[in-house]
Amino acid sequence: MITGKNQIGFSQSALGKTTFKTFNPILNTENKTLFFEANDDEINQAVKLASQSFEIYKTISGSKKAIFLRAIADEILDLGDALIKMYCSESGLTETRAISERGRTIFQLQSFADLVAEGSWVEASIDTAIPNRQPIPKVDLRKMFVPLGPVVVFGASNFPLAYSTAGGDTAAALAAGCPVIIKSHPIHAGTGELVSQAITKAAQKTGMPKGVFSNLNSSGYQVGSKLVSHPNIKAVGFTGSINGGRALLNLASQRPEPIPVFAEMGSVNPVVMLPQAAKQQAQKWAKAYADSITLGSGQFCTNPGLILGIKSEDLSKFIKTLADEIVKIKPTCMLHPNIIGAYESKKTSALAQDGLREVVSFSDAIPKNYGRQTVTTVEGVAFSNNPKLHQEVFGPFTMVVQCENSTQLETIISKLEGQLTGTILSENNDIESHQNIVSALQNRVGRLIFNGVSTGVEVCPSMQHGGPYPASTDSRFTAVGIHAIKRWVRPISFQNWPNNLLPDALRNENPLNILRLVNNHNTRKTL
Ligand code: NAP
Repeated sequence: MITGKNQIGFSQSALGKTTFKTFNPILNTENKTLFFEANDDEINQAVKLASQSFEIYKTISGSKKAIFLRAIADEILDLGDALIKMYCSESGLTETRAISERGRTIFQLQSFADLVAEGSWVEASIDTAIPNRQPIPKVDLRKMFVPLGPVVVFGASNFPLAYSTAGGDTAAALAAGCPVIIKSHPIHAGTGELVSQAITKAAQKTGMPKGVFSNLNSSGYQVGSKLVSHPNIKAVGFTGSINGGRALLNLASQRPEPIPVFAEMGSVNPVVMLPQAAKQQAQKWAKAYADSITLGSGQFCTNPGLILGIKSEDLSKFIKTLADEIVKIKPTCMLHPNIIGAYESKKTSALAQDGLREVVSFSDAIPKNYGRQTVTTVEGVAFSNNPKLHQEVFGPFTMVVQCENSTQLETIISKLEGQLTGTILSENNDIESHQNIVSALQNRVGRLIFNGVSTGVEVCPSMQHGGPYPASTDSRFTAVGIHAIKRWVRPISFQNWPNNLLPDALRNENPLNILRLVNNHNTRKTL
């Protein structure tokens, strides 16, 4: 049952005066529960508990953290249909999507549980002393990752489960040893509360300290800004708009003690259609891209919003086929009237730019809160000269840029902002004679895709989900897969430290039996 209250450690609290409700975009009505925005006392209490619990949580073994993470997964599954119904009522997304996103959330929690149970992720490295080295003795040095401290995670609007309360950021931070305070996304506060209850139960059942997790409601910027500014918060995770992520990054860097903000923000995910692909596979790619652009009403950070090709009859045919395919697809409900409003206004603003032309038209009406898909096209020179055309239109929108030649295509790619993904569509080894384009694309993206679509982000160690700014604020890290844990840790060295006082990961006996770099050799052996 949901209460609308904030979860602060193991207690629920509703001291604030500001309230709000979530919205059912399918029924076009507000949902019933009144949510209480966290007030200053509640924010401070959540941070205080998180700081206190950090002193205990950072010492908890990997195997115990794994038990906690697996218990969260079990408690989420135990929520059963209530969670699925709540998810659908607050997002307009289908039951099938809810179930698959829950599966992904569980998988992520279990992946981090496996990682910390095994333990080698701390990257222990040991360089033993050489007391008689000339001209000076070498000291004993041992290094490993340790958690940063309490962190704040902003739930994403477009993934109510997999990138929200118990999503990838939370799982990674808890695995690293960082207590988490969630700034719940107001669009799906009820889903957030149910998942918070599951995390709290798991924490209680597995003996975790009570401030290891809190969930704060808000319907405006205040709660998030106060959390990011709080001196006891040590890092921030965020998924959302460039404006939101940038505002939080600025706030965090202006603190007396600046802290890292790992924000995953906008991306248009450029797709380069090489001439042979346009000539030979126009139909195949038009179908695949019509599906990809409209998947989830285009509300994915990997949505292909920009297709680049070289002007030709083949490219014109591809554009026409893409338009024909996309009009066949039934529009679907978007997440919230605000998201639809932003989509419509960004689309209108893009279409008002010189040279951009819409190549689809519809005569039927669509239900309220549904997103109408579109395909647009523009000449390379008009695109190059107008930064407004480079901006993400979050929704089922794409733009095909018709470049004059391969040189213009390369120049356009090299001037794009940072992106999560970049795709090359190639036939007959076309790619081999376009290595300059591949090279330009590689400089701008976190993931290169050959003959595929960018939507569908596999959760596995080799996934890179992040890219040069503004795709993310730090392209060295990923938001997906087990390596996401590295955002929440820092390395520490111990010099000449007594063996019995070292963390287990660095002791001579290697009691955790982890893989370590000992005097430049990878080994599980004892010293
Ligand atoms: P958002 O506006 O960036 O908000 C995300 C979260 O950050 C919300 O919880 C919001 O708080 C908070 N926030 C935003 N700006 C803030 C600021 N200046 N100070 C403090 N907190 C701030 O994203 P959204 O609500 O998810 O969706 C809005 C638009 O973002 C979409 O239409 C889309 O354009 C874009 N978006 C992009 C992606 C992507 O992956 N590329 C994903 C989702 C959204 P409150 O909600 O409490 O105000």
